[in-house]
Amino acid sequence: MYLSVNNVGKSFPRHGEEPLKALETINLPINQGEFISLLGPSGCGKSTLLSIMAGLTEPSSGSVSLENERITEPGPDKSMVFQEPALFPWMSVKENVTFPLRKKLRKKEQESAVAHFLQMVHLSQFAENYPHELSGGMQQRVAIARALAMDSGLLLMDEPFGALDEQTRQVLQDEVEKIWQETKKTIVFVTHSIREAIKLSDRIIIMSARPGTIISDFKVDLERPRQQKDMALLEEDVMAILKKEIESVMKEELQHAGSH
Ligand code: ADP
Ligand code: MG
Repeated sequence: MYLSVNNVGKSFPRHGEEPLKALETINLPINQGEFISLLGPSGCGKSTLLSIMAGLTEPSSGSVSLENERITEPGPDKSMVFQEPALFPWMSVKENVTFPLRKKLRKKEQESAVAHFLQMVHLSQFAENYPHELSGGMQQRVAIARALAMDSGLLLMDEPFGALDEQTRQVLQDEVEKIWQETKKTIVFVTHSIREAIKLSDRIIIMSARPGTIISDFKVDLERPRQQKDMALLEEDVMAILKKEIESVMKEELQHAGSH
């Protein structure tokens, strides 16, 4: 197994209260080259799970391994795109994308790699600009180019298009799908858009409300590029699972409130 999440649980300590249980017994095997989406109600631990996969957060129980090695820290074998484009504001677009390569490649190689990835996200003309001179969508494309420049086999993306308008979102979805097909990376992608998950994923992992557990592992067996009419049918199925989960949470909350 390429990436293996084994019995992962995560609790956060809380002042003067029981610890907050964010994740419980997560088991998730991921094959090399798969495109996996995580869907679930807000607060169910999607970002926490991604952060554990990135080696940025330590699980409270269980473990995650990448190519049979336990993940304990961030490293060049995995790269992350955060929901908010996390760029260095004092560096130009080119310098931002070069940053992860500075120790890895020689000057000449760096330049050609950066040019390649900036072209991939259609930002070649903005290489010398600074982040504040770019729109949110362009900044996110720089963040994606930087993550791609790391050339790690595992790409973790946390609602990367969440803050973008629909049109930019669609363009970037197409770009990411193309890049994924060209580079054969493994992608774990958090989204709250069912449509986006269906358009991009080989598998959709649906999580329960807190503490997050996996309630469905949904295979998307549609040819790519995916057609609207094929996607619409699946959308209803995924929606039904999510709706049931959200309704049961609301019911529980109502009962809980009623018992007080
Ligand atoms: P999602 O990404 O699915 O919206 P998160 O993983 O961000 O959910 O959060 C899951 C739960 O864990 C939330 O209740 C959140 O408040 C809590 N949480 C996340 N990170 C921390 C942290 N560093 N410290 C304390 N609580 C946290
Ligand atoms: Mg999140």
